[in-house]
Amino acid sequence: MKTLTCAQFGGPCDFKMTTATEKEMSAMCWKHVKEAHPERFEETKIVTKDATKEQDDRAAAYFHNVWESVPEDK
Ligand SMILES: [Zn+2]
Repeated sequence: MKTLTCAQFGGPCDFKMTTATEKEMSAMCWKHVKEAHPERFEETKIVTKDATKEQDDRAAAYFHNVWESVPEDK
């Protein structure tokens, strides 16, 4: 399991999220942003709607790097 905060993904708060996989973390992050920071969610949605494949890949790579940089929970 890994624990990441909203801030580590560039979010505005220190909400902690713990999941076993990167995929689950991605889903949990989106859920948190949607619930806690709806204005950000709208912004991101507008961006991603018109995002190119390259921008999508870059966002996925960014997320992956953050996930990989965090150590496993003890
Ligand atoms: Zn947050």
